[in-house]
Amino acid sequence: MSDTVLDTAFFVRWMTAAAAAVEREADRLTELDSAIGDADHGSNMQRGFVAVAKMLQAGGPAAPGEVLAAAGRQLISSVGGASGPLYGSLLRRSGKALGEAAQVSRQELRAGLQAGVEAVAQLGGAAPGDKTMLDALVPAVEALDTSFEAAAAAAERGALATVPLLAKKGRASYLGERSIGHQDPGATSSALLFAALAEVAK
Ligand code: ADP
Ligand code: MG
Repeated sequence: MSDTVLDTAFFVRWMTAAAAAVEREADRLTELDSAIGDADHGSNMQRGFVAVAKMLQAGGPAAPGEVLAAAGRQLISSVGGASGPLYGSLLRRSGKALGEAAQVSRQELRAGLQAGVEAVAQLGGAAPGDKTMLDALVPAVEALDTSFEAAAAAAERGALATVPLLAKKGRASYLGERSIGHQDPGATSSALLFAALAEVAK
């Protein structure tokens, strides 16, 4: 897979698969957010990705970077919770980093997503270990160096590894010690995005 070339259609399939995964798992995301947040992560993600899927169905984005940037803009404009601007920044910055290239390699995608993850860290002020989406995103992007499957597995491991952590950022941090013992909703949705990527790359 190392020489795979990813075109615009691939990125549309990725975002469409991500929307389907969010739809399928929305109840679980909300359940996780009801334990350490305000029980809206599933509906936030659902609202955002319904808007993304609609935008893609209408057509428009003509390059991989444009697909991600346009998806990011949809998330920012349609989601009220913290996750909207955070995921929006991830995709917008990643899309910008890919520029106007008609095709990108897995390594170029990795570099683009790396820039996106840095935007998330900058916007939210969180670091790995703070029990946020970054706990899945950071290892996933790193493992994308190896393969799509490795990235999906790393994201899943990262999400599971948030269970014993104390939340330092976001709503869950208001709970202090009571945030321990629960999986972070945002890290869980990040794992869904990387599972969708591995699925479409097969
Ligand atoms: P809200 O917290 O506004 O209700 P959501 O429930 O949609 O928004 O999203 C919550 C998720 O957002 C958390 O589980 C966490 O992963 C992520 N998150 C919250 N704050 C931050 C932050 N400062 N940096 C990174 N991720 C964050
Ligand atoms: Mg919430």
